Amino acid sequence: VTELVDSHAHLQEAEFEGDRDDVVRRAGAAGVPWVVVPGVDAATSEAARRLAERHAGVVFAAGYHPHEARHCDAAAVAAVRELLSHPGAVAVGEIGLDYYRMHSPREEQLAALETMLRLAAETGKPVIIHCREAHDDLLPLLTAWSHSQGGGIDGRPLGVMHYYSGDTALAESYLNLGFLISVHTSVTHPNSERLRSVAATLPLGGLLLETDSPYGAPQAHRGKRNEPAWIVEAAKAVAQARAMPLEEVASATTANARRLFPTLATAPAMAARASS
Ligand SMILES: [Zn+2]
Repeated sequence: VTELVDSHAHLQEAEFEGDRDDVVRRAGAAGVPWVVVPGVDAATSEAARRLAERHAGVVFAAGYHPHEARHCDAAAVAAVRELLSHPGAVAVGEIGLDYYRMHSPREEQLAALETMLRLAAETGKPVIIHCREAHDDLLPLLTAWSHSQGGGIDGRPLGVMHYYSGDTALAESYLNLGFLISVHTSVTHPNSERLRSVAATLPLGGLLLETDSPYGAPQAHRGKRNEPAWIVEAAKAVAQARAMPLEEVASATTANARRLFPTLATAPAMAARASS
């Protein structure tokens, strides 16, 4: 049985308003027992928590995205800290730096990221990192943080580089610091040669898969709203790039997700916390 984890899907977004429950059910039916729903601020992290309470196969992350960094005040940090104490909270995220859109000033992005990293250390949670055109600042910052954390959390990875878009050498730098590299469903797009090369070259033990739903649908569904059931398209592309069976990619990436997020090692039914 092919079992896959979608390590990043924004199912609380408005794009899923009409059929959110069906989307989660379709994922389960497609062999995706677990979906990780990250927040980008306090409100979306709270919405992610509600989804995790509603669906046995959904877990969530709480944090401040670099776009929202300018809103990350003391009350926001308190709200995120509170959410992280929930049993369905598996990570601090998504957090990071984005100098491409620059929706928040650089200094505020750096301050919010440092605050979120402190929360991760305080709560013993891994981090989900977003980075766009900011690796020159991010790599030294995460290098120092990784060293301060001993390179892992009780022998587990420190976090994941979500929607990784850099080259192989940079990916290896993050791997060496204790981060996994997440391969997005856009790996199926004809122009994603660099990402395919990263996915083909890195050790299989360093890879996760994600849809980042509703963004970036795989080639087979290009132009549509992305959804977790389609994570299999990313797995197929990685298998093809590495010339290995789909099964091997599926079992390795699922095992990696369970190393990063130990809650996923239990069966979704066991984790059911439905309040609805
Ligand atoms: Zn995201």
